[in-house]
Amino acid sequence: MDVAEEPRPEHQPPEPDEPAPDQPAQVQPAPDRPERPELDISRVERDNGPMRVLRKVTSPRGEGFEVVIQRSALEAIHAHGREDTTVEICGVLVGNLHHDRQGPYLLIDAHVPGEKATSRGTQVTFTAETWEGIQKEMEKHPDQKIVGWYHTHPGFGVFLSGMDLFIQDNFFNLPWQVAWVYDPIAETDGAFVWRAGKSEKADFLIEENAGERGHDFRKTLNPDGSLTSAELRRLRGASLRRVVRAVIVFMIFFLVAWFGLRWLTDHGYKVRWPIER
Ligand SMILES: [Zn+2]
Repeated sequence: MDVAEEPRPEHQPPEPDEPAPDQPAQVQPAPDRPERPELDISRVERDNGPMRVLRKVTSPRGEGFEVVIQRSALEAIHAHGREDTTVEICGVLVGNLHHDRQGPYLLIDAHVPGEKATSRGTQVTFTAETWEGIQKEMEKHPDQKIVGWYHTHPGFGVFLSGMDLFIQDNFFNLPWQVAWVYDPIAETDGAFVWRAGKSEKADFLIEENAGERGHDFRKTLNPDGSLTSAELRRLRGASLRRVVRAVIVFMIFFLVAWFGLRWLTDHGYKVRWPIER
């Protein structure tokens, strides 16, 4: 893959003294920006979001603020990121703050795709048009928040470049907003949260979606409302399996009873039916 062979000076860890030559002036990381220690996930209060009990998650929930992404959202972001692995692909993360007994958590349950970075540098940027499109999409979901952003690093790993830090600093600078990086070639993900004014990599949990995993109920109906043939086959298969299971259970029960009685009579026990004839 030629993507991995190309040197990417813009994706080295940030070096404020040596800005990459092709970056537009307005997106240079600001080396002299004031420290913002208050920008920290520990500042997120329990009451910033309503109580919600987590469904099945991939690992145990720790104490305090946690980043949780729904399986469907993660898979959708991955699908978007794999669309083109020659450029960086970006978008915003959508969701809400919640809390449970362990504390506040951020639930990412949707995304709004941005536009591909089309410049030859392949670096991701949020242009005015991209923002406009995102805002328009968000207006349809007034109960949802922009909780961060995601972008891909095809073949060069999970970290935040100087430009990425600049974007996080200027557009996603609320204590609970996260940066998500996905490498679609290495198939790795990373979430970055605010800790004492710096973006740091953090653990995250994946929440399984409600309903049967891997079965999309929206795909079970034809446009006219009837069941699709694939869904009919699935349902018939399921009911056939149920019948076969019942027959097997009955046969096992019958055989155990039969051989049990034989054993008892063979060993001199008198077996009598409870109802006298
Ligand atoms: Zn990046």
